[in-house]
This record gives sequence, structure tokens and C-alpha cells, in this order.
Amino acid sequence: MRSAWWVLGALVAGLVVGLLVNTLWTSATWEMLGVMDSKRYLSRAVVEAGKVDPNAGAGVGASVVRVVREGAQFVGEVFVRLLRMMAVPLVLFSLVAAVAGVMRPGRDGDGVASGGGELRRLGLRTVGVFALMAMIAVTIAVLLAVVVRPGAAVPREAREALLAQQSGAAEARIKQFQTFDAQSTAWGQLVDVFAANPFRALADGNMLQVVVLAVLLGIGLTMIDAARRERVLEVVEGVGEAMLALVGVLMRVAWVPVFCLTATITATLGWGVLASVAGFCGVVLVGMGLILVVQYPALLVVLGGGRVSLGRFARAMAPAQLLALSTSSSAATMPVTMQCCDAMALNRRTTRFVVPLGTTINMDGTAMYQVLCVTFLAQLYGVDLSVTQLIGIALMAIVVAIGSPGLPGASLVLMVGILQYAGVPLEGLAIILAVDRLLDMARTVVNVTGDAVATVLVDRDR
Ligand code: ASP
Repeated sequence: MRSAWWVLGALVAGLVVGLLVNTLWTSATWEMLGVMDSKRYLSRAVVEAGKVDPNAGAGVGASVVRVVREGAQFVGEVFVRLLRMMAVPLVLFSLVAAVAGVMRPGRDGDGVASGGGELRRLGLRTVGVFALMAMIAVTIAVLLAVVVRPGAAVPREAREALLAQQSGAAEARIKQFQTFDAQSTAWGQLVDVFAANPFRALADGNMLQVVVLAVLLGIGLTMIDAARRERVLEVVEGVGEAMLALVGVLMRVAWVPVFCLTATITATLGWGVLASVAGFCGVVLVGMGLILVVQYPALLVVLGGGRVSLGRFARAMAPAQLLALSTSSSAATMPVTMQCCDAMALNRRTTRFVVPLGTTINMDGTAMYQVLCVTFLAQLYGVDLSVTQLIGIALMAIVVAIGSPGLPGASLVLMVGILQYAGVPLEGLAIILAVDRLLDMARTVVNVTGDAVATVLVDRDR
């Protein structure tokens, strides 16, 4: 908990420092330091032979600024990489141990009845809880979009300016989606959940494939000699525990990289852009807020069976939420989410089962975001959506949330598919891209919190 306060302090400090740099550090400041082309200077681009270096006059001051900036980026990136390094093996090991443990005949260490029926119950309950949560989230999103209509209020000039600014980035996403779409039919995408080569699935970090692999491996383990199975499980559980122990150490120093991450992101965000789509950003933030302060607490109270009080839940989840906010990656945050669930004294087996699965397929923030973005762009372009189309968008948003990896900006590529379905011009993605980094932070907090809520709801009967 102490480290959570440090992380919160670092987050706020990073935000303030980043914002100050963003507003006070202008091209005139660079010029004072002898830098005429700051983009070029910061990227350390080599000057072509025969050309004049516009930054030839850059002095020690400019170098120091550049090194500090690079140092901050380095610290943040290494931290996120270390967390992500744990994600794939942790999903594999946790799920293998959880599935094999649940299916083990007799009673497990927590005194819970085990067996194949138990795995089925756990699996069905988990998927049922995920589905219920996602349905509520997209319903709130549709209602918000229809009632507030944020897209109707954007001035035409702002729209054109945003389109021009981000069109390159948007085109890259659209191309990525088209390649993906051309390569696979719906059946093909389903087939793709099964890895022909499990090692490739692990190497590529294809979480859906890793989940299937882990569940099958866990089931396989229950079919072999008991003594042998226990030996394997001991190793699997031991490695998982070792990783979580490392995460514990990482969290003690997390405030440093969190400061670096927040400061570098806010320092480079284009706030001018924000004003023109402030209404949309506001609606997204209100929507995420509604999930966090209405939907989730209501679910915990009504369906949580008094397993965890709201205060305890909020206190225990703070570290994971702060980390989600600063990394925009639920996969990187997953190890900490697990620790937070452990801090709520939930059944370890439930946690090891639900959290990895949730990180992969349970993303209410992402589902809500997809609905809000597509309806916003439809309103902006004057595309009328029928009720059937709205329902279609909501359902597709849930599928996109299932298919998106827990990485920064990951769900934007698949959004192209929904835009296509809704008949909204694809280049509109450019408008969203301008503010996506900021809103990604918010939806990742929801995604991560949702995994813990689901764990509590599933754990209720255990
Ligand atoms: N950044 C989100 C996450 O990691 C995924 C997304 O919606 O882009 O949960």
C-alpha cells in the first residue's frame, strides 16, 4: 500500500512536470539553446553529406535536455518491458496450475471440491461473468452516445485540421486491418485460436493461443500419473511464484518509471487538439467513470456475495489501477493485478484462472471505447445509425475487445472493421488517433479493474 502512495505521487508529479514542459517549452526555448529543428535534434538524425546542420549551434544545455529526455524514456520502457516479460509465462503457468489444480481429484489446498465438473463450472461462470459485464458496459456506451451526441458538436474546420494532421497514422492502421481482414474469414479467425506450434504462440505472445494451450496442458496433466503431475505442478507453481516475487520488487521502485512514463507522455501530447474533441473525450471519461463507480460497485454488492467490501476492493486494486494508467497495457499490469487479488484474500486458484483469462478476453473499457468512437464518428460525418446497427456495433465491440491484445493502442486496428460495418468513412480514425493515447490510459484502468471484479464474482461460491 505504501508503494501505491509513492506511485500515485509520482503519477501526479509526472503529470504536472509533463504539462509544464508541454506548455512552457516552445520552439523559442529550443532556439535559445541553439536548436533550430528540435524534431531532428531529438531523433539524433544524421545530417546528409553536403547539407548544413540546422542544429550546429546546439550547446551543452541542449545535450543535457536531450539526455534527460532519453533517460526518462529508457527507464519507462525498461520497466514496461520487464512487466511484459512476465505476462506470457505467467498466463501459461498460472492457467496450467489453476486448471490442473481444479481438475485434480479430491479437494485442493483451499478445501475446494475438485474434478472435471468443477473446471466446467469455473469456466462457465467466468465466461458468464465476462459476458454480463461486457453487455452492461456496451449498453451504457450506446445510451451515452445516443443521449449526449458528442459528434454533432465538432466544428468542420477542427475536423479538417485533425484529419490532415493524423492521416498518415490512420492509413497505417487501416492497411494493417485490411491485411488482417483479407487473410482470414470468421472461421479462419476461430481456427487461429489453436496454435499449430505452441512455441511460436509463446514467442509471438499470442495470448488467445497461449490460453488455449495452457488449458489443454492443464487438462493433460490431470491424465498422467499423480506423483509425476505433482512434481510438474510444483515446478510450474514455483516459477509463477518466483515471477510474482520479482514483480513485488519491481513495484517497490515503480514510482520512478511511473514518473518518467507520465511525464514523457504528457509532455508530448498535443493538447491543442484536445480542445476540438473535448466533448468526445469528456463522454469517454464519463463512460469509464460510470463503469468504475456505478457498474462495478453495483456488481460487487449485488453479485459479490459480500466476498470483499467496496473499500477493501478499492484499496487493494489501487496499485494495479495506477500502473494501468501509466502503462496503458493490461498485459503488463497483469502480474500486479494478480497480487492485488491475492491482497483481497481471494482463492488463489480462482485468481490464477480468472485474471490471465480476463487480461486476454475481458476488456469492458475497450468495448465501451469502440462503441463511443464509432458512434461519435458517425455523428460527426452525419451517418444515421439504425437501432439494429447500434446493436451490431455493440456486439462487434465485444468481439473486438476479446480479440485485442492488452497493449497500448491495440484495439484501434480492429476498430476499422466496425467503422466499415457502420458505413463511417475510415479516415475518421485520424480524429480518434489524436487523443487515443490519453483515452487509452482510462480504458486500460477499466479493463484491469474489470478482471479483478470478475475474480471476486467468480470466487463468490468457492
Ligand atoms: N490498451 C488496452 C489494454 O491494454 C487495450 C486497448 O483498448 O487498446 O487493456
